[in-house]
Amino acid sequence: MDGRRRRRPSSSPSKPLPPSTTAGELLLSSDHHYPKASDALPLPLCLTNAVFLALFFSVAYFLLRRWREKIRDSTPLHVVTLSELAALVALLASLIYLLGFFGIGLVQSFVSRSPARQDIGGLSGPWHVMEQEEDKFIIKEEDREGCGGACTQCTVGPLAGALSTFISLTEEDEEVIKSVVAGTTLSYSLESKLGDCKRAAAIRREAVQRMTGRSMEGLAFEGFDYASILGQCCEMPIGYVQVPVGVAGPLLLDGIEYVVPMATTEGCLVASTNRGCKAINTSGGATSVVLRDGMTRAPVVRFGSAKRAAELKLFLEDPSNFDTISVVFNRSSRFARLQDIRCAVAGKNLYMRFMCSTGDAMGMNMVSKGVQNVLDFLRTDFPDMDVIGISGNYCSDKKPAAINWIEGRGKSVVCEAVIKEEVVQKVLKTTIPALVELNMLKNLAGSAMAGALGGFNAHASNIVSAIYIATGQDPAQNVESSHCITMMEAVNDGKDLHISVSMPSIEVGTVGGGTQLASQSACLNLLGVKGASQDSPGLNSRLLATIVAGAVLAGELSLMSALAAGQLVKSHMKYNRSSRDVSKMACQ
Ligand code: ADP
Repeated sequence: MDGRRRRRPSSSPSKPLPPSTTAGELLLSSDHHYPKASDALPLPLCLTNAVFLALFFSVAYFLLRRWREKIRDSTPLHVVTLSELAALVALLASLIYLLGFFGIGLVQSFVSRSPARQDIGGLSGPWHVMEQEEDKFIIKEEDREGCGGACTQCTVGPLAGALSTFISLTEEDEEVIKSVVAGTTLSYSLESKLGDCKRAAAIRREAVQRMTGRSMEGLAFEGFDYASILGQCCEMPIGYVQVPVGVAGPLLLDGIEYVVPMATTEGCLVASTNRGCKAINTSGGATSVVLRDGMTRAPVVRFGSAKRAAELKLFLEDPSNFDTISVVFNRSSRFARLQDIRCAVAGKNLYMRFMCSTGDAMGMNMVSKGVQNVLDFLRTDFPDMDVIGISGNYCSDKKPAAINWIEGRGKSVVCEAVIKEEVVQKVLKTTIPALVELNMLKNLAGSAMAGALGGFNAHASNIVSAIYIATGQDPAQNVESSHCITMMEAVNDGKDLHISVSMPSIEVGTVGGGTQLASQSACLNLLGVKGASQDSPGLNSRLLATIVAGAVLAGELSLMSALAAGQLVKSHMKYNRSSRDVSKMACQ
Protein backbone atom coordinates (compact mmCIF):
# COMPACT_ATOMS: atom_id res chain seq x y z
CA MET A 1 0.00 0.00 0.00
CA ASP A 2 1.30 3.42 -0.85
CA GLY A 3 1.48 5.35 2.41
CA ARG A 4 1.59 8.77 0.83
CA ARG A 5 -1.51 10.50 -0.37
CA ARG A 6 -2.55 13.87 -1.64
CA ARG A 7 -4.18 15.75 1.16
CA ARG A 8 -7.95 15.74 1.09
CA PRO A 9 -9.96 18.58 2.69
CA SER A 10 -10.96 16.43 5.65
CA SER A 11 -8.74 13.48 6.22
CA SER A 12 -10.45 10.67 8.03
CA PRO A 13 -8.32 8.64 10.34
CA SER A 14 -7.16 5.51 8.65
CA LYS A 15 -8.65 2.26 9.88
CA PRO A 16 -6.39 -0.05 11.85
CA LEU A 17 -5.26 -3.06 9.93
CA PRO A 18 -6.86 -6.36 10.93
CA PRO A 19 -4.54 -8.25 13.23
CA SER A 20 -2.76 -10.97 11.36
CA THR A 21 -1.71 -13.88 13.45
CA THR A 22 0.86 -16.29 12.20
CA ALA A 23 2.39 -19.27 13.89
CA GLY A 24 5.57 -17.26 14.27
CA GLU A 25 3.72 -14.44 15.94
CA LEU A 26 2.08 -16.85 18.32
CA LEU A 27 5.47 -18.13 19.26
CA LEU A 28 6.66 -14.58 19.84
CA SER A 29 3.63 -13.68 21.90
CA SER A 30 4.41 -12.49 25.40
CA ASP A 31 1.89 -15.06 26.65
CA HIS A 32 4.24 -17.78 25.60
CA HIS A 33 6.01 -19.34 28.59
CA TYR A 34 6.94 -22.75 29.81
CA PRO A 35 4.43 -24.10 32.40
CA LYS A 36 5.63 -24.61 35.95
CA ALA A 37 3.93 -26.60 38.70
CA SER A 38 4.08 -23.50 40.89
CA ASP A 39 1.85 -21.67 38.37
CA ALA A 40 -1.08 -23.58 39.91
CA LEU A 41 -0.55 -22.02 43.36
CA PRO A 42 -2.87 -19.16 44.37
CA LEU A 43 -0.06 -17.34 46.24
CA PRO A 44 3.59 -16.74 45.37
CA LEU A 45 5.66 -19.86 46.02
CA CYS A 46 7.66 -18.45 48.96
CA LEU A 47 4.49 -17.19 50.70
CA THR A 48 2.73 -20.54 50.25
CA ASN A 49 5.75 -22.34 51.68
CA ALA A 50 5.79 -20.01 54.71
CA VAL A 51 2.08 -20.57 55.35
CA PHE A 52 2.37 -24.36 55.24
CA LEU A 53 5.54 -24.46 57.36
CA ALA A 54 3.89 -22.27 60.02
CA LEU A 55 0.78 -24.45 59.89
CA PHE A 56 2.79 -27.64 60.22
CA PHE A 57 4.79 -26.53 63.26
CA SER A 58 1.87 -24.89 65.06
CA VAL A 59 -0.48 -27.89 64.74
CA ALA A 60 2.37 -30.26 65.63
CA TYR A 61 3.03 -28.22 68.78
CA PHE A 62 -0.71 -28.16 69.61
CA LEU A 63 -1.08 -31.95 69.17
CA LEU A 64 2.03 -32.72 71.25
CA ARG A 65 0.71 -30.57 74.09
CA ARG A 66 -2.69 -32.28 73.91
CA TRP A 67 -0.94 -35.67 73.91
CA ARG A 68 1.00 -34.80 77.05
CA GLU A 69 -2.16 -33.57 78.81
CA LYS A 70 -4.06 -36.78 77.90
CA ILE A 71 -1.26 -38.94 79.31
CA ARG A 72 -1.26 -36.84 82.47
CA ASP A 73 -5.10 -37.10 82.82
CA SER A 74 -5.14 -40.77 81.74
CA THR A 75 -7.52 -39.94 78.86
CA PRO A 76 -7.48 -42.56 76.08
CA LEU A 77 -5.51 -41.22 73.08
CA HIS A 78 -8.09 -42.32 70.49
CA VAL A 79 -10.76 -40.05 72.01
CA VAL A 80 -10.34 -36.86 69.99
CA THR A 81 -12.12 -33.53 70.21
CA LEU A 82 -13.20 -31.53 67.16
CA SER A 83 -10.20 -29.18 67.46
CA GLU A 84 -7.82 -32.15 67.68
CA LEU A 85 -9.43 -33.66 64.60
CA ALA A 86 -9.00 -30.37 62.70
CA ALA A 87 -5.38 -30.16 63.86
CA LEU A 88 -4.72 -33.71 62.61
CA VAL A 89 -6.19 -32.87 59.17
CA ALA A 90 -4.10 -29.68 59.02
CA LEU A 91 -0.96 -31.61 59.98
CA LEU A 92 -1.58 -34.18 57.27
CA ALA A 93 -2.31 -31.51 54.64
CA SER A 94 0.79 -29.48 55.44
CA LEU A 95 2.90 -32.66 55.49
CA ILE A 96 1.64 -33.60 52.01
CA TYR A 97 2.34 -30.08 50.76
CA LEU A 98 5.84 -29.96 52.21
CA LEU A 99 6.70 -33.34 50.79
CA GLY A 100 5.36 -32.12 47.46
CA PHE A 101 7.43 -28.96 47.80
CA PHE A 102 10.68 -30.82 48.32
CA GLY A 103 9.82 -32.92 45.31
CA ILE A 104 8.63 -29.95 43.23
CA GLY A 105 11.79 -29.85 41.16
CA LEU A 106 11.01 -33.39 40.11
CA VAL A 107 7.40 -32.46 39.35
CA GLN A 108 8.64 -29.42 37.39
CA SER A 109 10.89 -31.51 35.21
CA PHE A 110 7.93 -33.75 34.33
CA VAL A 111 5.68 -30.81 33.53
CA SER A 112 8.13 -28.82 31.40
CA ARG A 113 9.78 -31.64 29.50
CA SER A 114 8.13 -33.55 26.76
CA PRO A 115 8.59 -37.35 26.89
CA ALA A 116 10.69 -37.22 23.72
CA ARG A 117 13.17 -34.84 25.30
CA GLN A 118 16.54 -36.42 25.76
CA ASP A 119 20.19 -35.50 25.58
CA ILE A 120 22.28 -36.60 22.65
CA GLY A 121 25.99 -36.96 22.76
CA GLY A 122 27.05 -34.32 20.25
CA LEU A 123 24.56 -31.75 21.45
CA SER A 124 24.91 -32.16 25.15
CA GLY A 125 26.03 -29.33 27.34
CA PRO A 126 24.03 -26.16 27.45
CA TRP A 127 21.93 -27.02 24.38
CA HIS A 128 19.71 -30.02 24.41
CA VAL A 129 17.13 -31.66 22.26
CA MET A 130 13.48 -30.95 22.91
CA GLU A 131 11.74 -32.96 20.29
CA GLN A 132 12.74 -35.48 17.73
CA GLU A 133 10.85 -35.42 14.48
CA GLU A 134 11.68 -37.74 11.61
CA ASP A 135 15.41 -37.35 11.13
CA LYS A 136 15.45 -33.80 12.45
CA PHE A 137 16.43 -32.66 15.87
CA ILE A 138 14.71 -29.55 17.07
CA ILE A 139 17.13 -27.94 19.42
CA LYS A 140 16.15 -25.48 22.06
CA GLU A 141 18.83 -23.36 23.61
CA GLU A 142 19.60 -23.51 27.27
CA ASP A 143 16.60 -23.18 29.56
CA ARG A 144 16.84 -20.12 31.74
CA GLU A 145 16.46 -21.94 35.03
CA GLY A 146 19.40 -24.10 33.99
CA CYS A 147 21.88 -21.27 34.52
CA GLY A 148 20.86 -20.93 38.13
CA GLY A 149 21.49 -17.20 37.92
CA ALA A 150 25.22 -17.66 37.61
CA CYS A 151 25.75 -16.74 33.99
CA THR A 152 26.44 -13.21 32.82
CA GLN A 153 24.59 -13.29 29.54
CA CYS A 154 21.11 -13.94 30.96
CA THR A 155 20.24 -10.30 31.45
CA VAL A 156 17.22 -10.13 29.20
CA GLY A 157 13.59 -10.70 30.00
CA PRO A 158 11.63 -13.88 29.41
CA LEU A 159 10.23 -12.64 26.09
CA ALA A 160 13.71 -12.60 24.60
CA GLY A 161 13.96 -16.29 25.36
CA ALA A 162 10.65 -16.96 23.71
CA LEU A 163 11.71 -14.91 20.68
CA SER A 164 14.59 -17.11 19.96
CA THR A 165 14.95 -19.93 18.13
CA PHE A 166 13.87 -23.33 17.40
CA ILE A 167 16.55 -24.12 14.89
CA SER A 168 16.30 -27.33 12.95
CA LEU A 169 19.60 -29.14 12.61
CA THR A 170 20.12 -32.61 11.21
CA GLU A 171 22.71 -35.21 12.17
CA GLU A 172 24.53 -34.27 8.98
CA ASP A 173 24.64 -30.65 10.18
CA GLU A 174 26.12 -31.87 13.43
CA GLU A 175 29.14 -33.14 11.51
CA VAL A 176 29.59 -29.77 9.80
CA ILE A 177 29.27 -27.96 13.14
CA LYS A 178 32.00 -30.13 14.59
CA SER A 179 34.29 -29.43 11.64
CA VAL A 180 33.72 -25.66 11.97
CA VAL A 181 34.47 -25.86 15.69
CA ALA A 182 37.61 -27.91 14.92
CA GLY A 183 38.69 -25.37 12.28
CA THR A 184 38.70 -27.83 9.40
CA THR A 185 35.81 -26.01 7.72
CA LEU A 186 36.11 -22.23 7.40
CA SER A 187 33.08 -20.43 8.80
CA TYR A 188 32.94 -17.92 5.94
CA SER A 189 32.88 -20.67 3.33
CA LEU A 190 29.69 -22.33 4.66
CA GLU A 191 27.33 -20.59 2.23
CA SER A 192 29.30 -21.60 -0.85
CA LYS A 193 30.00 -25.12 0.47
CA LEU A 194 26.42 -25.91 1.51
CA GLY A 195 24.56 -23.88 -1.12
CA ASP A 196 21.94 -23.08 1.50
CA CYS A 197 22.27 -19.70 3.22
CA LYS A 198 19.87 -20.39 6.07
CA ARG A 199 21.46 -23.71 6.91
CA ALA A 200 24.90 -22.11 6.77
CA ALA A 201 23.76 -19.42 9.24
CA ALA A 202 22.24 -22.00 11.61
CA ILE A 203 25.39 -24.10 11.58
CA ARG A 204 27.63 -21.05 12.08
CA ARG A 205 25.47 -19.89 14.98
CA GLU A 206 25.65 -23.25 16.71
CA ALA A 207 29.43 -23.40 16.13
CA VAL A 208 29.84 -19.90 17.58
CA GLN A 209 27.88 -20.89 20.67
CA ARG A 210 30.03 -23.94 21.24
CA MET A 211 33.29 -22.13 20.59
CA THR A 212 32.51 -19.21 22.87
CA GLY A 213 30.46 -21.10 25.45
CA ARG A 214 27.99 -18.23 25.18
CA SER A 215 24.32 -18.64 24.43
CA MET A 216 22.81 -16.70 21.53
CA GLU A 217 19.34 -17.06 22.98
CA GLY A 218 17.39 -13.90 22.22
CA LEU A 219 19.07 -13.24 18.87
CA ALA A 220 16.31 -13.91 16.37
CA PHE A 221 16.96 -16.44 13.64
CA GLU A 222 13.75 -17.61 11.95
CA GLY A 223 11.75 -15.36 9.67
CA PHE A 224 14.65 -13.90 7.72
CA ASP A 225 15.74 -14.44 4.12
CA TYR A 226 19.44 -15.19 4.50
CA ALA A 227 19.89 -15.52 0.73
CA SER A 228 18.85 -11.88 0.28
CA ILE A 229 21.94 -10.57 2.07
CA LEU A 230 24.49 -12.87 0.47
CA GLY A 231 27.36 -10.95 -1.12
CA GLN A 232 25.62 -7.65 -0.58
CA CYS A 233 24.60 -6.73 2.93
CA CYS A 234 26.24 -8.88 5.61
CA GLU A 235 28.83 -11.63 5.79
CA MET A 236 28.85 -14.61 8.15
CA PRO A 237 25.30 -14.10 9.49
CA ILE A 238 24.09 -15.90 12.61
CA GLY A 239 20.72 -14.19 13.04
CA TYR A 240 19.29 -10.72 13.04
CA VAL A 241 18.63 -7.96 15.52
CA GLN A 242 15.07 -6.79 15.84
CA VAL A 243 14.47 -3.07 15.98
CA PRO A 244 10.90 -1.87 16.49
CA VAL A 245 9.45 0.36 13.79
CA GLY A 246 7.01 3.10 14.73
CA VAL A 247 5.23 5.57 12.50
CA ALA A 248 5.04 9.33 12.80
CA GLY A 249 2.59 11.36 10.83
CA PRO A 250 0.96 11.94 8.59
CA LEU A 251 3.50 14.56 7.68
CA LEU A 252 2.08 17.07 5.22
CA LEU A 253 4.97 17.97 2.96
CA ASP A 254 4.68 19.75 -0.39
CA GLY A 255 0.96 18.94 -0.47
CA ILE A 256 1.39 15.20 0.12
CA GLU A 257 0.80 13.29 3.34
CA TYR A 258 3.45 10.78 4.37
CA VAL A 259 3.35 8.22 7.15
CA VAL A 260 6.99 8.12 8.22
CA PRO A 261 8.51 4.82 9.46
CA MET A 262 11.11 5.16 12.21
CA ALA A 263 13.17 2.27 13.58
CA THR A 264 14.33 3.09 17.06
CA THR A 265 14.62 1.87 20.62
CA GLU A 266 14.56 5.37 22.07
CA GLY A 267 11.27 5.91 23.83
CA CYS A 268 9.61 9.28 23.15
CA LEU A 269 11.27 9.79 19.76
CA VAL A 270 8.41 8.64 17.54
CA ALA A 271 5.80 10.21 19.83
CA SER A 272 7.65 13.51 19.75
CA THR A 273 8.10 13.49 15.97
CA ASN A 274 4.43 12.64 15.65
CA ARG A 275 3.54 15.70 17.71
CA GLY A 276 5.74 17.84 15.44
CA CYS A 277 3.95 16.41 12.38
CA LYS A 278 0.60 17.32 13.92
CA ALA A 279 1.74 20.89 14.52
CA ILE A 280 2.97 21.18 10.92
CA ASN A 281 -0.20 19.64 9.45
CA THR A 282 -2.51 21.82 11.51
CA SER A 283 -0.62 24.88 10.29
CA GLY A 284 -0.98 23.99 6.60
CA GLY A 285 2.06 21.76 6.02
CA ALA A 286 5.75 22.16 5.20
CA THR A 287 7.52 22.83 1.93
CA SER A 288 10.92 21.65 0.77
CA VAL A 289 13.44 22.28 -2.00
CA VAL A 290 16.31 20.03 -3.14
CA LEU A 291 19.18 22.45 -3.72
CA ARG A 292 21.75 19.97 -5.01
CA ASP A 293 22.00 16.23 -5.72
CA GLY A 294 25.48 14.80 -6.06
CA MET A 295 27.48 12.02 -4.45
CA THR A 296 31.23 12.49 -4.06
CA ARG A 297 34.41 10.43 -4.02
CA ALA A 298 37.88 11.93 -3.69
CA PRO A 299 40.96 9.83 -4.45
CA VAL A 300 44.43 10.86 -3.27
CA VAL A 301 47.33 10.72 -5.75
CA ARG A 302 50.99 11.55 -5.25
CA PHE A 303 53.59 13.08 -7.59
CA GLY A 304 57.33 13.66 -7.41
CA SER A 305 56.79 17.38 -6.91
CA ALA A 306 54.14 19.82 -5.76
CA LYS A 307 54.38 21.42 -9.22
CA ARG A 308 53.16 18.22 -10.90
CA ALA A 309 50.31 17.90 -8.39
CA ALA A 310 49.32 21.50 -9.18
CA GLU A 311 49.44 20.78 -12.95
CA LEU A 312 46.89 17.99 -12.58
CA LYS A 313 44.68 20.23 -10.46
CA LEU A 314 44.68 22.91 -13.16
CA PHE A 315 44.02 20.29 -15.83
CA LEU A 316 41.01 18.85 -13.98
CA GLU A 317 39.52 22.23 -13.12
CA ASP A 318 39.91 23.63 -16.64
CA PRO A 319 36.34 23.86 -18.05
CA SER A 320 37.58 22.89 -21.52
CA ASN A 321 38.60 19.45 -20.20
CA PHE A 322 35.37 18.79 -18.33
CA ASP A 323 33.44 17.28 -21.25
CA THR A 324 36.16 14.74 -22.02
CA ILE A 325 36.50 13.73 -18.37
CA SER A 326 32.76 13.41 -17.90
CA VAL A 327 32.44 11.09 -20.92
CA VAL A 328 35.06 8.83 -19.33
CA PHE A 329 33.47 9.10 -15.88
CA ASN A 330 29.88 8.49 -17.02
CA ARG A 331 30.80 5.14 -18.59
CA SER A 332 30.49 3.69 -15.06
CA SER A 333 26.68 3.64 -15.18
CA ARG A 334 23.76 4.88 -17.24
CA PHE A 335 22.72 6.83 -14.14
CA ALA A 336 26.08 8.46 -13.27
CA ARG A 337 26.45 12.05 -14.50
CA LEU A 338 29.59 13.96 -13.53
CA GLN A 339 28.77 17.42 -12.18
CA ASP A 340 31.93 18.87 -10.71
CA ILE A 341 35.58 18.25 -9.83
CA ARG A 342 37.15 20.18 -6.95
CA CYS A 343 40.82 19.71 -6.08
CA ALA A 344 43.03 20.46 -3.09
CA VAL A 345 46.82 20.28 -3.03
CA ALA A 346 48.82 19.23 0.02
CA GLY A 347 52.46 19.44 -1.05
CA LYS A 348 53.12 16.72 -3.62
CA ASN A 349 49.70 15.18 -2.97
CA LEU A 350 46.49 15.94 -4.80
CA TYR A 351 42.93 15.32 -3.59
CA MET A 352 40.29 15.33 -6.35
CA ARG A 353 36.67 15.53 -5.24
CA PHE A 354 34.41 14.19 -8.01
CA MET A 355 30.70 14.92 -7.63
CA CYS A 356 28.04 13.19 -9.72
CA SER A 357 24.32 12.48 -9.77
CA THR A 358 23.51 8.80 -9.21
CA GLY A 359 19.84 8.34 -10.06
CA ASP A 360 17.94 6.63 -7.24
CA ALA A 361 21.05 4.96 -5.81
CA MET A 362 22.83 6.50 -2.83
CA GLY A 363 25.69 6.21 -5.26
CA MET A 364 28.93 5.31 -3.49
CA ASN A 365 29.59 2.32 -5.76
CA MET A 366 28.62 4.24 -8.87
CA VAL A 367 30.85 7.24 -8.15
CA SER A 368 33.77 5.00 -7.17
CA LYS A 369 33.57 3.18 -10.51
CA GLY A 370 33.49 6.53 -12.35
CA VAL A 371 36.53 7.76 -10.44
CA GLN A 372 38.43 4.57 -11.29
CA ASN A 373 37.66 5.17 -15.00
CA VAL A 374 39.08 8.71 -14.78
CA LEU A 375 42.21 7.61 -12.89
CA ASP A 376 42.90 5.01 -15.61
CA PHE A 377 42.39 7.68 -18.28
CA LEU A 378 44.70 10.21 -16.56
CA ARG A 379 47.63 7.80 -16.59
CA THR A 380 48.19 8.58 -20.27
CA ASP A 381 48.98 12.26 -19.65
CA PHE A 382 50.24 11.84 -16.07
CA PRO A 383 52.22 8.58 -16.04
CA ASP A 384 54.13 9.77 -12.93
CA MET A 385 50.86 9.86 -10.94
CA ASP A 386 50.90 7.40 -8.04
CA VAL A 387 47.38 6.47 -6.89
CA ILE A 388 47.59 6.16 -3.13
CA GLY A 389 43.92 5.46 -2.48
CA ILE A 390 40.59 5.68 -4.31
CA SER A 391 39.29 7.43 -1.21
CA GLY A 392 41.48 10.10 0.31
CA ASN A 393 38.98 11.32 2.94
CA TYR A 394 38.38 14.56 1.04
CA CYS A 395 35.03 13.02 -0.07
CA SER A 396 34.22 12.83 2.94
CA ASP A 397 32.33 9.65 3.85
CA LYS A 398 31.09 8.80 7.37
CA LYS A 399 33.28 11.35 9.14
CA PRO A 400 32.42 14.85 10.30
CA ALA A 401 34.00 17.20 7.73
CA ALA A 402 33.51 20.84 6.93
CA ILE A 403 33.60 20.11 3.18
CA ASN A 404 30.26 18.26 3.40
CA TRP A 405 28.77 20.99 5.57
CA ILE A 406 29.86 23.73 3.13
CA GLU A 407 29.77 22.02 -0.29
CA GLY A 408 27.12 19.39 0.38
CA ARG A 409 27.15 15.65 -0.30
CA GLY A 410 24.22 13.56 -1.51
CA LYS A 411 21.09 15.67 -1.40
CA SER A 412 21.14 19.24 -0.05
CA VAL A 413 17.65 20.08 1.18
CA VAL A 414 15.96 23.04 2.83
CA CYS A 415 12.56 22.58 4.45
CA GLU A 416 10.33 25.17 6.11
CA ALA A 417 6.94 25.69 7.74
CA VAL A 418 4.98 28.51 9.33
CA ILE A 419 3.41 27.38 12.60
CA LYS A 420 0.39 29.28 13.83
CA GLU A 421 0.52 30.88 17.27
CA GLU A 422 -2.54 28.90 18.35
CA VAL A 423 -0.85 25.63 17.35
CA VAL A 424 2.32 26.59 19.22
CA GLN A 425 0.22 27.11 22.34
CA LYS A 426 -2.25 24.23 22.04
CA VAL A 427 -0.21 21.47 20.40
CA LEU A 428 3.34 22.39 21.38
CA LYS A 429 2.39 23.89 24.76
CA THR A 430 4.83 26.78 24.55
CA THR A 431 5.14 30.29 23.14
CA ILE A 432 6.78 31.72 20.03
CA PRO A 433 9.18 34.05 21.94
CA ALA A 434 10.31 31.15 24.15
CA LEU A 435 11.04 28.99 21.09
CA VAL A 436 12.87 31.74 19.19
CA GLU A 437 15.02 32.59 22.19
CA LEU A 438 15.84 28.96 22.93
CA ASN A 439 16.77 28.31 19.30
CA MET A 440 19.11 31.30 19.27
CA LEU A 441 20.82 30.45 22.55
CA LYS A 442 20.95 26.67 22.10
CA ASN A 443 21.09 25.73 18.43
CA LEU A 444 23.06 28.76 17.26
CA ALA A 445 25.06 30.33 20.09
CA GLY A 446 25.38 27.13 22.16
CA SER A 447 26.58 25.08 19.20
CA ALA A 448 29.02 27.89 18.23
CA MET A 449 30.40 27.82 21.77
CA ALA A 450 30.87 24.06 21.44
CA GLY A 451 32.69 24.47 18.11
CA ALA A 452 30.01 22.42 16.37
CA LEU A 453 30.47 21.18 12.80
CA GLY A 454 27.05 21.06 11.17
CA GLY A 455 25.42 20.48 14.53
CA PHE A 456 23.31 23.60 14.79
CA ASN A 457 20.19 21.67 15.69
CA ALA A 458 18.55 19.92 18.63
CA HIS A 459 18.46 16.28 17.52
CA ALA A 460 18.41 15.89 13.74
CA SER A 461 20.48 12.70 14.02
CA ASN A 462 17.73 11.02 16.05
CA ILE A 463 15.25 11.29 13.21
CA VAL A 464 17.81 10.68 10.45
CA SER A 465 19.08 7.47 12.11
CA ALA A 466 15.59 6.11 12.78
CA ILE A 467 14.45 6.65 9.17
CA TYR A 468 17.77 5.35 7.80
CA ILE A 469 17.49 2.10 9.74
CA ALA A 470 13.83 1.64 8.77
CA THR A 471 14.43 2.28 5.05
CA GLY A 472 17.71 0.41 4.56
CA GLN A 473 20.06 3.37 4.27
CA ASP A 474 23.64 3.18 5.50
CA PRO A 475 23.30 4.17 9.17
CA ALA A 476 26.99 5.14 9.34
CA GLN A 477 26.23 8.02 6.98
CA ASN A 478 24.15 9.48 9.75
CA VAL A 479 27.33 11.42 10.61
CA GLU A 480 27.11 13.88 7.73
CA SER A 481 23.46 13.30 6.83
CA SER A 482 22.52 14.82 10.20
CA HIS A 483 24.32 18.09 9.48
CA CYS A 484 21.54 20.59 9.99
CA ILE A 485 20.98 24.18 10.97
CA THR A 486 17.59 24.92 12.51
CA MET A 487 16.37 28.50 12.24
CA MET A 488 13.35 30.01 13.99
CA GLU A 489 11.87 33.47 13.88
CA ALA A 490 8.61 35.19 14.66
CA VAL A 491 6.71 36.30 11.55
CA ASN A 492 3.37 37.99 10.75
CA ASP A 493 3.81 40.61 13.49
CA GLY A 494 4.97 37.99 15.95
CA LYS A 495 1.79 35.92 15.56
CA ASP A 496 3.35 32.95 13.80
CA LEU A 497 6.60 30.99 13.97
CA HIS A 498 8.78 30.41 10.89
CA ILE A 499 10.93 27.32 11.30
CA SER A 500 13.38 25.84 8.80
CA VAL A 501 15.97 23.11 8.62
CA SER A 502 18.83 23.28 6.11
CA MET A 503 20.54 19.93 5.57
CA PRO A 504 23.36 19.93 3.00
CA SER A 505 24.36 16.23 3.03
CA ILE A 506 21.42 13.84 3.12
CA GLU A 507 22.80 10.62 1.62
CA VAL A 508 19.92 8.36 0.65
CA GLY A 509 18.94 5.90 -2.06
CA THR A 510 15.93 3.79 -2.94
CA VAL A 511 17.83 1.12 -4.89
CA GLY A 512 20.90 -0.89 -3.92
CA GLY A 513 22.35 -1.82 -0.54
CA GLY A 514 19.91 -2.54 2.27
CA THR A 515 16.95 -0.94 0.46
CA GLN A 516 16.13 -4.20 -1.32
CA LEU A 517 15.64 -6.25 1.89
CA ALA A 518 12.03 -7.17 2.66
CA SER A 519 11.47 -5.07 5.80
CA GLN A 520 13.32 -2.02 4.55
CA SER A 521 11.64 -2.27 1.18
CA ALA A 522 8.22 -2.33 2.93
CA CYS A 523 9.09 0.91 4.73
CA LEU A 524 10.13 2.55 1.46
CA ASN A 525 6.87 1.34 -0.03
CA LEU A 526 4.95 2.97 2.81
CA LEU A 527 6.48 6.27 1.71
CA GLY A 528 5.76 5.55 -1.96
CA VAL A 529 9.46 5.68 -2.88
CA LYS A 530 10.32 2.00 -3.24
CA GLY A 531 12.88 1.14 -5.92
CA ALA A 532 13.77 3.09 -9.04
CA SER A 533 11.49 5.91 -10.10
CA GLN A 534 9.52 5.05 -13.21
CA ASP A 535 9.05 8.71 -14.11
CA SER A 536 12.58 10.00 -13.84
CA PRO A 537 15.74 8.41 -12.35
CA GLY A 538 16.55 10.09 -9.04
CA LEU A 539 13.01 11.24 -8.27
CA ASN A 540 12.43 8.64 -5.55
CA SER A 541 15.71 9.22 -3.74
CA ARG A 542 15.23 13.01 -3.86
CA LEU A 543 11.71 12.59 -2.50
CA LEU A 544 13.06 10.43 0.31
CA ALA A 545 15.61 13.15 1.15
CA THR A 546 12.83 15.73 1.44
CA ILE A 547 10.84 13.39 3.70
CA VAL A 548 13.91 13.01 5.93
CA ALA A 549 14.21 16.80 6.12
CA GLY A 550 10.45 17.18 6.77
CA ALA A 551 10.58 14.64 9.60
CA VAL A 552 13.63 16.42 11.04
CA LEU A 553 11.63 19.66 10.94
CA ALA A 554 8.87 17.95 12.94
CA GLY A 555 11.38 16.50 15.39
CA GLU A 556 13.09 19.85 15.92
CA LEU A 557 9.78 21.60 16.48
CA SER A 558 8.61 19.12 19.08
CA LEU A 559 11.83 18.69 21.05
CA MET A 560 12.53 22.42 21.12
CA SER A 561 8.99 22.99 22.38
CA ALA A 562 9.42 20.36 25.10
CA LEU A 563 12.65 22.04 26.15
CA ALA A 564 11.11 25.51 26.09
CA ALA A 565 8.21 24.27 28.21
CA GLY A 566 10.55 22.34 30.54
CA GLN A 567 8.77 19.05 29.74
CA LEU A 568 11.70 17.03 28.51
CA VAL A 569 12.67 15.16 31.66
CA LYS A 570 9.04 14.51 32.53
CA SER A 571 8.15 12.99 29.16
CA HIS A 572 11.33 10.91 29.06
CA MET A 573 10.54 9.51 32.47
CA LYS A 574 7.12 8.58 31.13
CA TYR A 575 8.09 7.06 27.78
CA ASN A 576 11.76 6.27 27.97
CA ARG A 577 12.24 4.84 31.44
CA SER A 578 10.57 1.61 32.29
CA SER A 579 9.32 1.26 35.84
CA ARG A 580 10.55 -2.33 35.82
CA ASP A 581 13.29 -3.14 38.27
CA VAL A 582 16.15 -3.90 35.87
CA SER A 583 18.08 -5.79 38.54
CA LYS A 584 15.24 -8.31 38.64
CA MET A 585 15.35 -8.88 34.89
CA ALA A 586 18.37 -11.17 35.07
CA CYS A 587 17.84 -14.90 34.64
CA GLN A 588 14.05 -14.87 34.77
P1 ADP B 1 25.28 2.45 -4.62
O1 ADP B 1 26.01 3.12 -5.74
O2 ADP B 1 24.38 3.35 -3.85
O3 ADP B 1 26.17 1.66 -3.73
P2 ADP B 1 24.44 0.09 -5.96
O4 ADP B 1 25.62 0.10 -6.87
O5 ADP B 1 24.33 -0.97 -4.93
O6 ADP B 1 24.24 1.50 -5.27
O7 ADP B 1 23.08 0.08 -6.79
C1 ADP B 1 22.92 0.79 -7.91
C2 ADP B 1 22.57 -0.18 -9.01
O8 ADP B 1 21.20 -0.05 -9.31
C3 ADP B 1 23.34 0.12 -10.26
O9 ADP B 1 23.81 -1.07 -10.81
C4 ADP B 1 22.32 0.74 -11.19
O10 ADP B 1 22.58 0.42 -12.53
C5 ADP B 1 21.01 0.13 -10.72
N1 ADP B 1 19.85 1.00 -10.92
C6 ADP B 1 18.67 0.63 -11.45
N2 ADP B 1 17.80 1.67 -11.50
C7 ADP B 1 18.44 2.71 -10.98
C8 ADP B 1 18.08 4.08 -10.76
N3 ADP B 1 16.88 4.56 -11.05
N4 ADP B 1 19.01 4.87 -10.20
C9 ADP B 1 20.22 4.40 -9.87
N5 ADP B 1 20.61 3.15 -10.05
C10 ADP B 1 19.74 2.29 -10.61
